[in-house]
Amino acid sequence: MCGIVGYLGQNQAYPYLIEGLKSLEYRGYDSAGVALMNGSLRVFKKQGKVRNLEAFVDGKNLSGNAGIGHTRWATHGEPSDQNAHPHTTQKGSLALIHNGIIENYETLRKELISRGHVFESETDTEVLIHLIEEIQINNHCMLEKAVQLALQRVEGAYAIIVMSKDDPEKLVAARKSSPLVVGMGDNEYFIASDTMAMGQHVNRVVYLDDEQIAICRSTKEIEIKTIEDIPVTPYIEEFDSNLSILDKQGFEHFMLKEIYEQPKSIRNGLRGRITPDGEIHLKGILEHAERFCEAKRIIIVSCGTSWHAGLVGEYLIEKYAKVPVEVEYASEFRYRDPLITDEDVVIAISQSGETADTLAALEIAKEKGAFTFGICNVVGSSIARVTDAGIYTKAGNEIGVASTKAFTSQMTVLTMMALQMGKIKGTIERAELRDRVKELDRLPDLIKQALSGDKITHLIGDLFAQASNFLYLGRGVNFPIALEGALKLKEISYIHAEGYPAAEMKHGPIALIDENMPVVVIANSKENYEKVVSNIQEVKARNGKVIAIIETDDRDIFKLADAVIEVPKCSELLTPFLSVIPLQLLSYHIANKLGKDVDQPRNLAKSVTVE
Ligand code: GLU
Repeated sequence: MCGIVGYLGQNQAYPYLIEGLKSLEYRGYDSAGVALMNGSLRVFKKQGKVRNLEAFVDGKNLSGNAGIGHTRWATHGEPSDQNAHPHTTQKGSLALIHNGIIENYETLRKELISRGHVFESETDTEVLIHLIEEIQINNHCMLEKAVQLALQRVEGAYAIIVMSKDDPEKLVAARKSSPLVVGMGDNEYFIASDTMAMGQHVNRVVYLDDEQIAICRSTKEIEIKTIEDIPVTPYIEEFDSNLSILDKQGFEHFMLKEIYEQPKSIRNGLRGRITPDGEIHLKGILEHAERFCEAKRIIIVSCGTSWHAGLVGEYLIEKYAKVPVEVEYASEFRYRDPLITDEDVVIAISQSGETADTLAALEIAKEKGAFTFGICNVVGSSIARVTDAGIYTKAGNEIGVASTKAFTSQMTVLTMMALQMGKIKGTIERAELRDRVKELDRLPDLIKQALSGDKITHLIGDLFAQASNFLYLGRGVNFPIALEGALKLKEISYIHAEGYPAAEMKHGPIALIDENMPVVVIANSKENYEKVVSNIQEVKARNGKVIAIIETDDRDIFKLADAVIEVPKCSELLTPFLSVIPLQLLSYHIANKLGKDVDQPRNLAKSVTVE
């Protein structure tokens, strides 16, 4: 988590840094800070969002052609001015920003204290800048050498940028397990956690690999080495800075804009991969058809919303491709001794492609010889680079911390994968495949229709916004959607919500039901429809309030439920796509009604790059 940004060039650094921080704020927003170089190093930092920092620096001297900035998601030490980055040294000659966790910081800190160092913050980060300073003084070496030597002693994850008052024409950046990209314009450098923070002048970028260090000097070409000092030829890619423009396009929040973008994002994901007459062509699968055909088992590793997409994937892959699938929380998978062989395929799902737990799970899968496959949204991300093959979801930038369009794009890719595997393995009839692909092609239009129910959803959201608990029920492929609906509500409204398979309700959660308990029932599926109706009856018999997601014109449930949201009729395959739309909107409207910060909910951040 956390966003870091650096600028070095002919222009004033501050405007670039502050704009960069705003576009990275989705990654962490409990404090923010900048360091600017202009003869001396000046550091400004403040608890809270970037706008607090802006208010704080108002009227101050912010000149300087080099600078670094940070927006924090605290791991060690509470959010406070003192713990905010950049961190500096006792002599005030170095400043550093960091994204990640220095796991052996206690040992290093004790060592440094015994040698007379005094610490000002509770962060793990501060030990690193003290260590760099000490090494530089003891070895009389250049900044980059000191950074290399210090990083050799560090365990954990880092993306850092360091600057020195004594070497003002230089920024030194390095990474391991946290993302970092160096952008280049004409005689200027922009370094950031994400290309979204790149200024409009960037036309080339270099993504750093783990344990690499970039030395950026104004008016010189970038130099890259490993932290063990082995030179690396930079792989420079063209970059279109127009893609990094962020705009709410008239919507009140990014989340709402992203919910409404789903017809387009799904269309982008389908484009070139299916045809309207029922053909399917997924390069990532076709090029490795043998591995997928011969797979004894598929294991999906992911976290949060992506884990829910994985559960939908399990249902579809088992149904159409007849391969056993297991879906694992990446954080659990990595810390047991999973039984994996080289006959397994391990699929990692992550919007950012940087999720620390998912990356670590992949490492284990690779060690054990499994074929690894990534489903990511962010192009060039770590997961995309470390897997043997993969498919991009093509959802476009997702800024709202609560994932919406990235989720439906992940489901789109998983649906296509299940069908493509079924085709290769011959486990799906030709005619059925054609029908399913044709339906997929209609999906963006159906989503558009589902979005037209927003007004009703808004009213229902207002009506139930004061409830303290919600239960979400779904069956089959819509059970993961119940989980996702509950997660969305928790994330942005802070209302307690649980998702359950509808039939499980009677094994426990039914005890919670009374007249104050809204129960959201996903009932737009015809599979087990009668059973879902019975579940609704059970809730009603206990005075629970039922909000049902139904197919257009379903009079039976309409009469039973307290509130209904209609979604268009569709085949079973598409029901999860359509049922999740009103659930996203419902949580949005409830959170908004309660006055919550929808795009940047408390304690959360996007792109979870720490364990
Ligand atoms: N571990 C550091 C801290 O707590 C960096 C956290 C981050 O990545 O924002 O300050």
